[in-house]
Amino acid sequence: MEKADTPLDDIRANIEKTCKIARRSPDEVTLVAVSKMHPAEAIIPLLEQGQVHYGENRVQEAQSKWPGLRDRFPDAQLHLVGQLQSNKAEDAVALFDVIHSLDRSSLVKALGKAFDKLGKRVPCFVQVDVGKEDQKGGCPIDKLPDLLDQAREAQIPLAGLMCIPPLDTEPAPFFAFLDKLARDHELDGRSMGMSGDYETAIRLGATHVRVGTALFGERPEPA
Ligand SMILES: *Cc1c(COP(=O)(O)O)cnc(C)c1O
Repeated sequence: MEKADTPLDDIRANIEKTCKIARRSPDEVTLVAVSKMHPAEAIIPLLEQGQVHYGENRVQEAQSKWPGLRDRFPDAQLHLVGQLQSNKAEDAVALFDVIHSLDRSSLVKALGKAFDKLGKRVPCFVQVDVGKEDQKGGCPIDKLPDLLDQAREAQIPLAGLMCIPPLDTEPAPFFAFLDKLARDHELDGRSMGMSGDYETAIRLGATHVRVGTALFGERPEPA
């Protein structure tokens, strides 16, 4: 009997199909499975299917879940997709392989210091506040050139730009805008697109899509 497709199979197929339509290679798009709030038992089946990249939004939660999983699956790559406090920078650098939420000067300093101390430099996406929504974090658009200069000066490896468009708005213009900003600043990576809009994001140049609910189902409510 044939095994039923898993959500991961479906999303991989959708990414491939979308890349074909957009005349892009699927190798250009990294699927980051956002496993925040989901327990290790929910993540293991994906690890067993060869899914490599995972996103978490809290340093502490990731510290409790991932060391054990990584013992079993040493190839797993961890992406921090949530806001990062400067005083957690060192913990984040120790644990994560990619950071998607560099958004201010104080964090450039904290990360630079943590990199030097740990002898490890983690690629960072600079998060841009494309929807002018303070609460989501992100660098204001007009401050981006300065922040990129500071990051380069601090020898932070720049992976690209990241955005979270406003809820309940057509996301395409925001994705197109982030793509243009990345091009203007000669950055390769575009971390954009989530469960509801990753195909749109891929058509507009996403290199990293961050998909949670479509892979894992609804997140458990916080206690
Ligand atoms: C939770 C989260 C996601 C995943 O969202 P879904 O809608 O569940 O796919 C993506 N990016 C960030 C920054 C997140 O916090």
